[in-house]
Amino acid sequence: TKKKLIAGNWKMNGSVEANDALVRTVIGGLQGATCTVAVCVPAPYLAQLQMLRHGSALELGAQDVSRHEQGAYTGEVSATMLKDFGVRYAIVGHSERRQYHGEDDQLVADKAKAALAHGITPIVCVGETLAEREAGHTEEVVRRQLATVIHTNGHCITEIVVAYEPVWAIGTGKTATPEQAQQVHAVLRAQLKAATPQADRVCILYGGSMNAANAASLLAQPDIDGGLIGGASLKAPDFLQIIAAAR
Ligand code: 13P
Repeated sequence: TKKKLIAGNWKMNGSVEANDALVRTVIGGLQGATCTVAVCVPAPYLAQLQMLRHGSALELGAQDVSRHEQGAYTGEVSATMLKDFGVRYAIVGHSERRQYHGEDDQLVADKAKAALAHGITPIVCVGETLAEREAGHTEEVVRRQLATVIHTNGHCITEIVVAYEPVWAIGTGKTATPEQAQQVHAVLRAQLKAATPQADRVCILYGGSMNAANAASLLAQPDIDGGLIGGASLKAPDFLQIIAAAR
């Protein structure tokens, strides 16, 4: 079976001082971890993280990447710039970017393509809102979101990570039950299988109020291959407990 992936998404949190303490404690607790562990940090801290993680097993991630290669795109950060700092993962299409920054499925798919072109693994986020779930549209929404990524990236989709993050579970303390999450993960797996014989290689993460108490039962589901952790990744003991639950 493939290695699980536990990725922290710090969102817009951190400071040079706080990062130092958090990352040192996390790295100090990584011995014996059987999963891959990454932190996706705000771009200004990539250089700090590159130093802090040196010689450790902690992988580095970004929270976004430009669809463009380089040039007159004020405020954007390219995949090659991320690569300069040892970045291995880039989150794309997080619901907060879809909601607050108007990102659509095609932009998200293009960002995944830009990351893949430079050897960065995109963590492609999909997920329904509460209104969409209540209307019975969950599967249709996540399938539409993933379909554009598949069409745009072709055979490269074996190199992506997918994150199922129900919008109503993010930062709310309301986690999807393991059964609810597994049901959607199975839909995503089937969609990947229809596109590639290697679909079982793709990690499908769950995200949304995952914490030390609920991680083990979510991670025990057959199609849940890891977690994308927001709030709990900012507290070293909680993050380390989630890592310990991923075996
Ligand atoms: P929380 O774990 O804070 O709910 O955030 C989940 C998330 O959005 C990770 O990308």
